[in-house]
Amino acid sequence: MSGSLKGLDIVSIRDFSREQIEQILDVAVKMVPIAKGEEKSTELEGRVLGSLFYEPSTRTRLSFEAAMARLGGRTLGFDEPKGSSVAKGETLADTIRMVDAYSDVIVLRHPQEGAARLAGHFAENPVINAGDGAGQHPTQTLLDLFTIRNEKGGIDGNHVVIVGDLKYGRTVHSLSEALSMFGAELTFVAPPTLQMPKEHVKHIESRGLKPRISNSLDEVIGDADVLYVTRIQKERFPDPAEYQKVAGAFAINRTMLREAKKDLIVMHPLPRVNEIDPDVDDTDHARYFVQAFNGVPEDGASLHGAWGDGMKEFKVTPIRNGTVIDHIDVGMSLKVLRIIGVRGDVSSTVSVLMHVPSKKGAWKDIVKIEDRELDPKELDKVALISPDATINIIRDYNVAEKFVVQVPERVKGIMRCSNPSCITNKNEPVEPEFVVETKKPLALRCSYCDRLTTDIAENIV
Ligand code: ASP
Repeated sequence: MSGSLKGLDIVSIRDFSREQIEQILDVAVKMVPIAKGEEKSTELEGRVLGSLFYEPSTRTRLSFEAAMARLGGRTLGFDEPKGSSVAKGETLADTIRMVDAYSDVIVLRHPQEGAARLAGHFAENPVINAGDGAGQHPTQTLLDLFTIRNEKGGIDGNHVVIVGDLKYGRTVHSLSEALSMFGAELTFVAPPTLQMPKEHVKHIESRGLKPRISNSLDEVIGDADVLYVTRIQKERFPDPAEYQKVAGAFAINRTMLREAKKDLIVMHPLPRVNEIDPDVDDTDHARYFVQAFNGVPEDGASLHGAWGDGMKEFKVTPIRNGTVIDHIDVGMSLKVLRIIGVRGDVSSTVSVLMHVPSKKGAWKDIVKIEDRELDPKELDKVALISPDATINIIRDYNVAEKFVVQVPERVKGIMRCSNPSCITNKNEPVEPEFVVETKKPLALRCSYCDRLTTDIAENIV
């Protein structure tokens, strides 16, 4: 599979090409300031995430919720099925059909392998697998790859040692498959009973790689660039006595890392139980909390991918007659619609694309309006809130005219003054009037009270 990600389920990392994975990682880079709260985004305003967690989670559930909140969307769902109709015996298929109608994308964690695939068959909207039993955990893998790429400057050629429960650990099933797409060198360290399932090893080998299998961390640690530590998945052992035999295997501490390369990074999908001693936390090797933060931009990128222009009501089709406003400053498209008087429901005559990568490597929004051309006042309003917007007038499916909007030198009648005490705000029979003081950032000086107005979008009438 290659090309667009729009509207796709994210169920197994195998469904994705290297090119698609890189595409998501690139989007995640741009999500970082939003994830940190340094930049505001309204990309997912009005969108709802259905978050269904049939198994415990901290990192995954909360980073999806954080990503959704940072992008202006909302989340509904449950974090344990006991309080839902699952406790009454409702099937997964029925729950999915219902939540699909209440939300625009579903994030699902479930104890059964294949649950997310099934959910994908019953949902109209995209489904994201947040872990299906001992199967896969593709979004964890995306943030793991993101972390390795950031910390090591790339993924190819790194020697990644994966240690712990490789049999039941879904994160390492997805991760090892993905790393093999990138040509990383792999070593699997586990007690023999918890080694990587043959099926995964074979698949990795089919990509021309030969993972090393070991049960001694000491033998390989000196040669590792990345040490990926995992928890023994107690909850998946059919026999608790079997768990006792391997509990505590391969715990890492600061002393063991003395043999490691200086720039080795230690990762863990969390939660850790006793696999990494807290004395590792303040070494230069520890990256597991940075990794956990990376869940937010990465999940934001997955949500962006799931939505994109794949949402039915946002689908952009060529229009016969009307106006396409391109290169709108990112996040401003809904304001553009508001100021030109398109309100309420986005009907079939209007399409909005938010957060679209532009050719210049930045982000932009696009609005298409059927059967409507903008009058000069409306063009001025668009210019005031998005000075680089390009207007394409479409007639009979062809671009009949194309131009960049122009910020007028004098602004009259389309804005109110931001000074509440200005005479123009007092019911006098005058139209507010402004002179452009600076263009970037745009500041307008009121010709009556001299006050500068900079929050243009808020004051356009
Ligand atoms: N949080 C990860 C998972 O859900 C790792 C773990 O639980 O050990 O698979």
